[in-house]
Amino acid sequence: MNTKIIKIDPVHIDQEEIEAAGKILINGGLVAFPTETVYGLGGDALNAEASKKIYEAKGRPSDNPLIVHISSVDRMTEIVKEVPPQAYLLAEKFWPGPMTLILHKNDRIPYETTGGMDTVAIRLPSDPIARALIDASSGFIAAPSANTSGRPSPTRAEHVIEDLNGRIDEIIDGGAVGIGLESTIIDLTEEVPTILRPGYVTLEMLQEVLDEVRVDPGLIAADSKRKPKAPGMKYRHYAPKAELLLVEGDNTKVVDKINRLCELAVREGKSVGILATEETKGYPKGEVLCIGSRKDEDSIGRHLFGILREFDRMQVDVIYSESFSDARFGQAIMNRLLKAAGHHVLEV
Ligand code: AMP
Ligand code: MG
Repeated sequence: MNTKIIKIDPVHIDQEEIEAAGKILINGGLVAFPTETVYGLGGDALNAEASKKIYEAKGRPSDNPLIVHISSVDRMTEIVKEVPPQAYLLAEKFWPGPMTLILHKNDRIPYETTGGMDTVAIRLPSDPIARALIDASSGFIAAPSANTSGRPSPTRAEHVIEDLNGRIDEIIDGGAVGIGLESTIIDLTEEVPTILRPGYVTLEMLQEVLDEVRVDPGLIAADSKRKPKAPGMKYRHYAPKAELLLVEGDNTKVVDKINRLCELAVREGKSVGILATEETKGYPKGEVLCIGSRKDEDSIGRHLFGILREFDRMQVDVIYSESFSDARFGQAIMNRLLKAAGHHVLEV
């Protein structure tokens, strides 16, 4: 398949191009597009065949449900059984934005879109290109991250091209995304609203709106004897090709430990990648990539997936990474890093 790649300026949106992309979706085709979290691989959420194509293009296990993107809160009612009051409270506070709600689906959403589940994940993104594309489509775009299953999520169009060129109809290049980590997922079908995936919207932010909210126990259990409730969270994910080791603890000790590990690995003839920060990037050995300053947490989230892909390109044998538990949305960053590392952590 020949994939059309087009550039769209988010500030001056080319409406004709958007309408054409909307037609592709209405006709059952696939279009990758930017959102504020990561790039999404879109298909018509109401069309079972389109959803099947998404799984095929990504190589995604078919029990891993897709998120349905809408562009106005009212349209939520068209695809769910009922909207609980908490959904409106959360929507008012965090939509448009990086938050996904799980509700009971109705018959308009095919099981192919929800991976066989009776619930559906819904998000209203803030990215202007995403919003325009949703408006030019059926109004319901099923879109998981636009990467090959298992690889780091795409935060620039180049990442999407790397993974999906030749496998989908169109890729819209809208530049680098703003947040860089996937949305916070909140399940509203449980008695107590439950965070199924941490993201830019944190537990503390949700507690300001909801009387009660908890974190899925399966998320916290690092040994994963308990399965996380979001099916996607059980798969190995975000993984660079090289072995990744997370070093956690007091900053100076972490730097010392990474230096020592690096020295040993280099002596064994390995090429070493180091995931460092603006504050620590002076490591004497290894291929050092700087994720951003610890004083600018947003930059850490924004650069994480791109850096994991960069290490792939450099073909390093092993990666040592600093940890980021203390960031405001450190839980979200560490959740991605822990999965990328296969929970391979060294405490110092
Ligand atoms: P992605 O868009 O690639 O980040 O993947 C979507 C994520 O949403 C996956 O981790 C899914 O498991 C999760 N998800 C989507 N729909 C549901 C649902 N109905 N119940 C629980 N988790 C869901
Ligand atoms: Mg994904």
